[in-house]
Amino acid sequence: MAILVVNAGSSSVKFTLFGPDGETVWASGIVERIGFDGTRLKYRGREGQPLERLVLVADADEAVGTILAALTDKVHGVIGRIQEIAAVGHRVVHGGETLTHPTVIDDRVKSVISEYCRLAPLHNPPNLAGIEAGERHLPNAVQVAVFDTAFHATIPPHAFLYGIPQRYYTEDRIRRYGFHGISHKYVSEEAARFLGLPLTSLHMITCHLGNGCSMTAIQGGRSVDTSMGFTPLEGLVMGTRCGDIDPAAVLHLMEHHRLSPASMNELLNKQSGLLALAGIGSNDLRDVIAAADGGNRHAEQALDIFCYRVRKYIGAFAAAMGGLDVLVFTAGIGENSPVVRRRVCLGFESAEGFGIELDPQKNALASYQVRAIQAEPSRVKILVVPTNEELEIARETLQILSGRPHRAASTERYRS
Ligand code: ADP
Repeated sequence: MAILVVNAGSSSVKFTLFGPDGETVWASGIVERIGFDGTRLKYRGREGQPLERLVLVADADEAVGTILAALTDKVHGVIGRIQEIAAVGHRVVHGGETLTHPTVIDDRVKSVISEYCRLAPLHNPPNLAGIEAGERHLPNAVQVAVFDTAFHATIPPHAFLYGIPQRYYTEDRIRRYGFHGISHKYVSEEAARFLGLPLTSLHMITCHLGNGCSMTAIQGGRSVDTSMGFTPLEGLVMGTRCGDIDPAAVLHLMEHHRLSPASMNELLNKQSGLLALAGIGSNDLRDVIAAADGGNRHAEQALDIFCYRVRKYIGAFAAAMGGLDVLVFTAGIGENSPVVRRRVCLGFESAEGFGIELDPQKNALASYQVRAIQAEPSRVKILVVPTNEELEIARETLQILSGRPHRAASTERYRS
């Protein structure tokens, strides 16, 4: 028996095949550049060398077909027949207020995911295409949807409502949803496991700092607030997204530069953040740090702004929870950048303040393991936890397969 995890995006389908324990990776890879020249399959089997080859793939359906052919290939494959795949776990970005747990996919679930295409027009449609491809190629496997928004279903109304007329919530469902939930849930559980402490006893802040960045306040294992909002645009400064900005500034720019909603959307999501602030033609933090080290003033300022925003949210979330026990860094930047972790934590050392103190040597050490990087006197534990969203999806899928109920979240829909 095997579990296939599928993450279908607008131009790629990522996959990981897990063994029956839902933990051991048998194969993984990606079909990328779908719809562009040079569509390719990258594939890594259990032991073999990574393979890469050009493929003729026009859509998610053909991508899943190509992936299944690779998994059952006589030479590089890891399973004999596709029937060995008992379940497919699909990453779905938006489950809205209805789909707040991993769910076996049926027509009703698909229609709700489709309804939420309105709220996540870039993500839910390709996710849905991945689901349909899974159903077509693997009709006997259980198809499960795991949602990026679901972990945040426990956020209370005082944290998820915006200060606008209530009818825009009741009629248009405008509210904070939050994203990266699969990652925040995974790293919070791994952090508690590493510390040997029950998650229910901890006040934790998880910082998912990748190309997209978000932070979550997790109290007793439940998300109580998160930095992303109605869309992933809100909150931290990211690779190409601006994060928090006064909406009046957006209106002002639209009016004075005659920008359409689509152009403004493009500007805020694709042309802002580190890319815009550093002005070096790259949104990769490694390039920004290198430029800053070389004396580029704008790159230095971009780094400052990035880290300052993270610090601000640490303060806000610690206040929101009334305390902080564990600070977790994850994703590309969080896992790999000692510079960012140092700048974020600097000045938080005093016990009267936050009691967050890094150990410089531990912080500088590169590793792919979960690790503690706080200094001895630090009141707050500081952890680096490599995220693994595929593994979390496999675990959730296995849990559904084995009929174990998911931990109840207080997901009762808020009624005004
Ligand atoms: P995504 O949000 O696309 O999944 P990742 O979590 O893979 O992104 O993070 C990608 C980002 O991580 C890159 O843009 C880069 O800025 C950053 N990154 C990766 N390695 C390092 C490093 N050693 N130092 C600083 N930043 C890094």
